[in-house]
Amino acid sequence: MNLNSQLDRCVRCGMCSQHCPTYTLTGDENESPRGRIALIRALDAGQIPPGGKLTKHLDHCTSCRACEDYCPSGVRFGSIMDATRTRLASEQTGPPSALLSLATRPRQLLRVGRWLRRYQRWGVQRLARASTLLKRLGLAQQDALLPELAELPPWQEYYPPTGEHCGDVALFTGCVSNVFDRRSLEASRRLLNHFGYGVRVPAAQTCCGAMHLHSGRADTAAELAQHNVAAFVPLIDSGSVQAIVHTASGCTAMLADYPHLSSLPADKHADAQRLADSTTDISQFLAACPQLTQQRPSPLPKTVAVHEPCSLRNVLHQQQAPYALLAHIPELQLRPLPTTTRCCGGAGSYLLTQPEFAQRMRQDQLDALRSLNADTLLTSNIGCALHLQAGLREQGQAVEVLHPVTLLARQLGLLD
Ligand code: SF4
Ligand code: SF4
Repeated sequence: MNLNSQLDRCVRCGMCSQHCPTYTLTGDENESPRGRIALIRALDAGQIPPGGKLTKHLDHCTSCRACEDYCPSGVRFGSIMDATRTRLASEQTGPPSALLSLATRPRQLLRVGRWLRRYQRWGVQRLARASTLLKRLGLAQQDALLPELAELPPWQEYYPPTGEHCGDVALFTGCVSNVFDRRSLEASRRLLNHFGYGVRVPAAQTCCGAMHLHSGRADTAAELAQHNVAAFVPLIDSGSVQAIVHTASGCTAMLADYPHLSSLPADKHADAQRLADSTTDISQFLAACPQLTQQRPSPLPKTVAVHEPCSLRNVLHQQQAPYALLAHIPELQLRPLPTTTRCCGGAGSYLLTQPEFAQRMRQDQLDALRSLNADTLLTSNIGCALHLQAGLREQGQAVEVLHPVTLLARQLGLLD
């Protein structure tokens, strides 16, 4: 991407501003997409230095890309931010954060996850939460995000279908999802098998690189992308799988965006495009399966709220998929959160790096949820799920947060 040509596309109309969560929160022009573009232009022209005011306003951007959807000039704001963050990060020194570093080592992250499960099951978490220990160690914020962890067995390379075989798909497991959202991945695997698909789980896959890209580490993101291209593209080229599916829309959006990754070597772009063309959100894939109409899920006579993650809505444009998938559950009433077009503040590592803004954005969503009087909230992105669940726990709101596929698998009796 040519950064200057993207910056020049902006005609300063301001049509994006009212859809930007940080502008809505603050009313500050510097916190709007147009204001950020002006700051980046000024940086380019040498009128302002890196750091200070510039960094503060750029760091507040959640990379939700809502502004792109409303821009009449087609400004690719996400790419502008990624390029600028990479430029600014290269002017800083220091090691990457522990989370970014762990994400590139899936086996170690899995070991950490197994220890965290013991921490929960042996009652240590309960004791630590009741004491001041977590606060004194500076870990209270991280601990508050922990969901109840499922068992984390190693994945098999192949899971055969349980029904009549109609094809194979590849499952992308991700880094954070593989540890903190195994329940949704397992529900997806069982649904796919139940619908007649064999599921391949390539052992050589790794983190998608989204958190690295949005933190200005474009080279690491490109390295991770190349690992995933090597793990999945041969399966696509040989016709061994017909799609690559995933549960976290943030990661699926990143896989779909690989061809636009400017740090990817030029000779890898065609492979990245084939990977992107085959990648889809799990609800989108299952909702389009002809087998769906033959299923008889148990009725669920209640209202369930639906949160539409920015990555599913603004990048993949597949936000209707969970509704289409769950329309087959008798008596279920699905209600979108009234604020669902606004970022909830989860946004990858944003919930940890910008806690004040993240919590203010989340509060809008929690207030909207209260108005729906629902005891279940569906979301298709693990970052949003962890963030929203932590807020609900903190406020004592008894609402279960689930992935749409988990609800369908439950109603079909596929979960233990
Ligand atoms: S990406 Fe989201 S937070 Fe950033 S400027 Fe655009 S709308 Fe605002
Ligand atoms: S809508 Fe597009 S052209 Fe208008 S100010 Fe926003 S980024 Fe610039």
